[in-house]
Amino acid sequence: MEVISLAEGSSYFRSPESATAAAIAALQNDKTKYGPTEGTLPLRRAIIQKYRADGIELQPEQVLITPGAKQALYNLFTTLLKEDDEVVVPTPAWFGFHELLKYSPAKGIALPTSLSDGYKLTPEMLRGTLTSRTRILLLTNPGNPTGRIYTEEELEALLEVVNDFPNLYLISDEIYDLVTYGRPFTSILSCQGAKAARTIVVNGFSKSFAMSGWRLGFILGPADLVRRCTEFQRATLSGVSLFAQDAAEAVLMAREQELPPMQQVLAKNREFMQKGLEVIPHVPYYLPDGAYYFFPDLSHYLNRTSITGEQLKTTADLCRYLRNCYNLELAPGDSFGAPGHVRMSFAVETHRLQDAMQRLRQGLILLTED
Ligand code: PMP
Repeated sequence: MEVISLAEGSSYFRSPESATAAAIAALQNDKTKYGPTEGTLPLRRAIIQKYRADGIELQPEQVLITPGAKQALYNLFTTLLKEDDEVVVPTPAWFGFHELLKYSPAKGIALPTSLSDGYKLTPEMLRGTLTSRTRILLLTNPGNPTGRIYTEEELEALLEVVNDFPNLYLISDEIYDLVTYGRPFTSILSCQGAKAARTIVVNGFSKSFAMSGWRLGFILGPADLVRRCTEFQRATLSGVSLFAQDAAEAVLMAREQELPPMQQVLAKNREFMQKGLEVIPHVPYYLPDGAYYFFPDLSHYLNRTSITGEQLKTTADLCRYLRNCYNLELAPGDSFGAPGHVRMSFAVETHRLQDAMQRLRQGLILLTED
């Protein structure tokens, strides 16, 4: 039985043709030397144009091209954080935030949201967690692993609280902004309450454009902060490869053609996975508005014994069992700050998904209660 992995954080699609063609042309044109640290002007302009289409005005000095969104976050953490600062992260959240914060002098503070409330972070919860030491509030919208998209009204209500903390920067990780299923996505930058000097967007090409290996991300923010991040990037990395930047520019210009075929497959797969979950008893889940994951609660199936006599106490145990006995890989929720849950990607070929969901059902219903 072949291994099926639903544990990956990137989709199975090939990178778009427009990107590959532009990169090849750039290489043939000898775009193989250092470029500007802040990124090429045409790419920054293409990004500005994308945001302008949503009514957001940006200047080139407010855009820094980074080798991935991860590096964008690392730049920001290095530039903004010092000892005793706090970074508030609503959970469940992508494990990468926690990993990155290990290399910063600041302390990560988890702000748990729950499935029963649709993973909604409320203004009250936020006010109860922010302190004068909180330097960064790190939102992920659409959420990974939750798939939640915040409405404009919800964002405005959160911004009212944020604006009472003058020391605070709001970073919105919007890397899944173009992977949505009907619910409109609103960037934090288009909110009335967003203070230009304290609001930052991190985004990239890994998810929407299936380009995770190209290492292409960006920061949008106030010019003085972007300049400081650029200085750090100059000292540590220089600019992103010019041929990768040409690819990013090309794919952004061609997004109206490139995105819909991928989106159609993802929308179908999402429905498919939902149907697969519906036939497994006692598995609550949130139907994702964006990104490409379900994050169901499998705690009903914990503290049971597997066919091999193994006691399954955590979702890590459960995932190991599914891997060993069913060749099915899922990502345990513990690393996302949500024990009892698992993250399942539906950005895989549809026929594999069908098989995967059968294996999951089989694997769970055959567990016996202790
Ligand atoms: N932010 C989130 C929420 C992510 O899920 C990921 C990738 N899993 C990243 C950032 C990192 O993206 P990149 O490949 O651009 O570094």
